[in-house]
Amino acid sequence: MSDIIKLLPDHIANQIAAGEVVQRPASVVKELMENSIDAGATKINLIVKDGGRTLIQIIDNGSGMSVIDARMSFERHATSKIASADDLFKLQTKGFRGEALASIAAIAHVGMKTKLHDAELGTEILVEGSKIVSQEPVAAANGTSISVKNLFYNVPARRNFLGKDTTEYQKILEEFLRIALVHFDIEFTFHHNGDEVYMLPAVKTLRHRIVGIYGAKFNEKLVPVNEETDIVKISGFITKPDTERASNDRCFFFVNHRYFKDRYFNHAVMAAYEGLIPSGKYPPYFLYFEVPTSSIDVNVHPTKTEIKFEENQFIYQILRSAVKQSLGQNNIVSTLDFEQETSFNVPMLKKGESVRMPEIKVNPEFNPFHNTPNREDKNVSAIQSHGFAKMTPKKKTGKIFTIFLKLKRLQ
Ligand code: ADP
Ligand code: MG
Repeated sequence: MSDIIKLLPDHIANQIAAGEVVQRPASVVKELMENSIDAGATKINLIVKDGGRTLIQIIDNGSGMSVIDARMSFERHATSKIASADDLFKLQTKGFRGEALASIAAIAHVGMKTKLHDAELGTEILVEGSKIVSQEPVAAANGTSISVKNLFYNVPARRNFLGKDTTEYQKILEEFLRIALVHFDIEFTFHHNGDEVYMLPAVKTLRHRIVGIYGAKFNEKLVPVNEETDIVKISGFITKPDTERASNDRCFFFVNHRYFKDRYFNHAVMAAYEGLIPSGKYPPYFLYFEVPTSSIDVNVHPTKTEIKFEENQFIYQILRSAVKQSLGQNNIVSTLDFEQETSFNVPMLKKGESVRMPEIKVNPEFNPFHNTPNREDKNVSAIQSHGFAKMTPKKKTGKIFTIFLKLKRLQ
């Protein structure tokens, strides 16, 4: 019997990978913009035609590539970002699978012009359906320009599956904003069918970037959120309740500089706004989480926007409380219900799942001058102490959280 197992030819393997990496024009935009950021670009221009069907071009002033790297970058699993499996855990870059360019080049006509900053000449490569058609020296600006034409030209099923140009344009816009809202220190421009959609100069603060995107009037609507606990640091902005919208197109979560979607955390924000906005409406928010990378499921899938948090129930509580405090501090909510803040009811448990609440054991006999308290008593004494009574509601909540988290660890 003859052998029947065969290795797939590269261009087929690339096409299969492309099915995962490139679902629509917006995926190309995301991958290419992330590459530009990883290359240290301070200016990134996005040019799109016909919702990305005809052309997606990204021009950056990043590091550029050598003649050899330019060619190598189209090979599958070609990456300059990891050299060993160990590197996966130290990852600071956006990409690392080395699949994006190979995948895109498998299903489109790709042109790349790139030049290292200290090189005299750049190099231009044309790739069609994984085949390198040409590579030549060329006069070029520092950095990299990649144009992707005729996306899915050789995958009719995918091409026919694309939405209307306006739908694809909308998806591209979403990806563009998700990136621009993190990297406010980078200048971005976006043109669609020759029209300028966004011209966002590099700015010093997130507030400036948000206002750059949504207009000067939005400035007064922004309410800062800042909360720092052992398990998560939350910063960013929510908006005054009268800014509500019928769509959630201005609701953004980011974790460790990456956009993610989370219905559970969205629920936490909505719960904090309860009674302030009508149901079915969304308050715009731009919330940035920082957590230790070990406490989230590393986002190894390039198109995945859902992320698993180890401590999601605590983060829910911290988030809701932080948003509530921000609304309260800005006199948007007349009184802050402190009792409610400290009732740690954990919502949306799965069927049959139960959560053990920490018990704060109050020792009525406790006297700090008489005996050496054990660790738990020390925490409780902090609650009982005179200082606590004088604290502002925000401080109280913070303190309770810290104690709550400590107790949780003691269990
Ligand atoms: P990954 O980003 O996962 O490494 P890609 O296929 O997206 O894989 O890119 C392959 C390699 O090509 C990158 O590791 C990088 O070295 C290089 N590269 C891609 N785009 C750029 C760019 N805009 N500027 C400089 N180098 C780039
Ligand atoms: Mg990449």
